[in-house]
Amino acid sequence: MIIKKRRKPLPLEKLDAAIPRLSPQFHDWQNIKSDAAIMQKGYTGELKVDYHLEYLANQYTILQDVYLKVNGKNFQIDSAIIAEHAIYLVDAKNYSGTITFDTILKQLTRSDGKMESGYEYPITQVENQRFHLQNLLSQQHLTNIPIFCLIAISEPSTVIKVIGDTESLSKIVAHGARVPSMILEKEQQLKQEGYRKLSHRKIGNHILNLCGTFDKNSIKQYNIKPTDLMPGVFCPECGKLGMERIYGSWHCDKCDNYSKTAHLSALSDYLLLVKTLYDE
Ligand SMILES: [Zn+2]
Repeated sequence: MIIKKRRKPLPLEKLDAAIPRLSPQFHDWQNIKSDAAIMQKGYTGELKVDYHLEYLANQYTILQDVYLKVNGKNFQIDSAIIAEHAIYLVDAKNYSGTITFDTILKQLTRSDGKMESGYEYPITQVENQRFHLQNLLSQQHLTNIPIFCLIAISEPSTVIKVIGDTESLSKIVAHGARVPSMILEKEQQLKQEGYRKLSHRKIGNHILNLCGTFDKNSIKQYNIKPTDLMPGVFCPECGKLGMERIYGSWHCDKCDNYSKTAHLSALSDYLLLVKTLYDE
């Protein structure tokens, strides 16, 4: 069962609410647009991996977008699958083109055919997550729970190459579609090796109770003043800003649409944006 569902990250939700209310002449318009596009790409990649992992939901306990704190430091896990013998941390990565893992130098490079760029080694990242979770669980007196890390490549067309130890890397990194069967195989192996059975639902609920919500004040960093945001109600049909209130309804003069509820999204934009700008 999925006991914690992924939703659109708050920083992205804020940018998506701000963009249509900002003038393209706003000084940081291009930056805001490209930051939102990068966040959206990451979020879409996570949803693609979720689609495959949900296959395990009827057997195990799944938490999506796990945000935890240990020893004063926050850490985030894309998905935690609590199975019968172990916990599996799955990190979704949305590289496109060809990626090369160098298991000796511990580096990752990506090539799009023209340019090569380097990235933080994702295996080090997930191993840190495992370390943090292990600490947190032992503080909660949940000890001796094996934790395994997996990296799910969200794009099926991404080519994965390895320099060094291909075999051990193939036990950690795979395309999203292969991850559920890797978990099932590992579970089978642990069962045969006589590992004790976990009460996965109970452990899942315990972790759920410790979860917080990730938010960074993504609006503040662009210096958006409340006066930069165009007020008004968007037409839910054609998207034009500035519906008019007529006889208890909202009317769009562009497409002649009437709506009784069009103001609700303007109210939620207000709570998301203006309140953040004034309050913090
Ligand atoms: Zn309209």
